[in-house]
Amino acid sequence: MTETRSLVSRSADLSPAPAADEKLFIQRRDILAWGRAERRTQRWARPRFRDELGPLLGDPTWPHKLATGLRRSYGDSCLDSDGALVDMTGLDRLIAFDPLTGRLRAEAGASLSEILQRIVPHGWFVATTPGTRFVTLGGAVANDVHGKNHHGAGTFGASVLALGLLRSDGGRIVATPDDEPDLFRATVGGLGLTGVIEWVEIALSRIPGAFLDVEILPFESLDAFWSVAADSVGKAEHTVAWIDCVTGRGRGVFTRANWDATGGVAAHDDRSFRSVPVEFPGFALNRMSVAAFNELYYRLHTMKAARQRQPYSTYFYPLDSLRNWNRIYGARGMRQYQCVIPWGEERAALPALLAEISRSGQASFLAVIKTFGDKPSPGMLSFPRPGTTLALDFPNRDDVTLSLMGRLDSIVREAGGALYPAKDGRMPADMFRLSFPRWQDFARWKDPAMNSDFWRRVSQ
Ligand SMILES: Cc1cc2nc3c(=O)[nH]c(=O)nc-3n(C[C@H](O)[C@H](O)[C@H](O)COP(=O)(O)OP(=O)(O)OC[C@H]3O[C@@H](n4cnc5c(N)ncnc54)[C@H](O)[C@@H]3O)c2cc1C
Repeated sequence: MTETRSLVSRSADLSPAPAADEKLFIQRRDILAWGRAERRTQRWARPRFRDELGPLLGDPTWPHKLATGLRRSYGDSCLDSDGALVDMTGLDRLIAFDPLTGRLRAEAGASLSEILQRIVPHGWFVATTPGTRFVTLGGAVANDVHGKNHHGAGTFGASVLALGLLRSDGGRIVATPDDEPDLFRATVGGLGLTGVIEWVEIALSRIPGAFLDVEILPFESLDAFWSVAADSVGKAEHTVAWIDCVTGRGRGVFTRANWDATGGVAAHDDRSFRSVPVEFPGFALNRMSVAAFNELYYRLHTMKAARQRQPYSTYFYPLDSLRNWNRIYGARGMRQYQCVIPWGEERAALPALLAEISRSGQASFLAVIKTFGDKPSPGMLSFPRPGTTLALDFPNRDDVTLSLMGRLDSIVREAGGALYPAKDGRMPADMFRLSFPRWQDFARWKDPAMNSDFWRRVSQ
């Protein structure tokens, strides 16, 4: 594995400029974020080689650009309808992997899915993973994503050893926690606004096998959830819970898991997928169908064996087996709401949030609750902070949904909480500024030629 420290080059390489009549970006109406609620035309290009990036960033037709990954962000942080998107998924090569030390460097468009297929058979895993493996390395860094092991491992950024950044002035900068530390902390969780991440080097975690020993613990109330979550710290590497947001009572199913040494080290297979072929009709998801699903889900889990061995793909990525599952929300799409409530405020704020959601009758069945640990996130704009995080989807019913979210915002603000930009498409600018107090420090590191619909909304 090559050493990456002090590889700083500021050579201008954005030339040659494209010929005047050559269009580098094409117009597309089908480029959507995961929530599918916002439908705006995007200019888009998908380079295959790193030397194509310079001309794309330098294209004067569009004054600003935004690098994107697999667009698993739900709202407008991965869209730039005023500028042009540089889709990084064609830059997906593995550059170096040392199976002895677990250091891996890959181009930023490589997905966690591809990386896991290469490393799991060698007994390695990414140090933290979100609830889908269909995210790119660049996207995981730019949102400083968190996983079910946040209470022990912190965020994805904690495992980043180095990253290669291309700025719009042509500078190629290698940023690590020690070299260019401010640019590193701006880029981790920096929403793609500091430049294009070309490659990322990460420290992997050793695993004894590809299975987890999973304990399933139904709970009847939020108090019971916090008590089992506290009991699990130090006992379980991974924890997460599903919560029933229809009844508003706070019942749910907690799972905690540790890696298991039995069962082998075979990686997952992405070929045997089922897919949602078309958008579901709008009436398919209503209060009654969601309530029925929740009842069934809760009952099934109270009857299930309390302990199971599950392959990592089942435990970490239950939704990934159904391709395009976001189409079940129909043509109007959905909006996700993910907040974090700091410790000390949770016992007032979480019941209030659940009551408001239950009263609205708008909750879907996809609702997750989890506690964050106190390992500081490296990024200036990282979302995780010590407390309880609640994330749930709402079928998009325009003003009705937005008005509910506004009411939820009041509770989150009152509690000193924050919303997750990766899941957001509508948080008010003042709420962002209040809950991400380092946003002005961050703005000094923003590349003037990078922008997003999200940033325009919250920074102006
Ligand atoms: C089913 C599901 C479960 C999820 N679970 C979790 C979870 O448990 N925890 C969590 O934290 N998140 C979770 N997410 C959100 C997801 O992990 C993040 O939105 C992630 O950043 C998406 O990565 P992506 O490659 O799709 O990036 P995109 O969504 O395409 O982009 C995300 C951001 O990264 C920037 N970006 C992407 N590539 C580059 C690059 N090469 N250079 C510079 N900037 C770049 C974009 O500009 C954008 O700001 C989940 C999403 C889904 C759909």
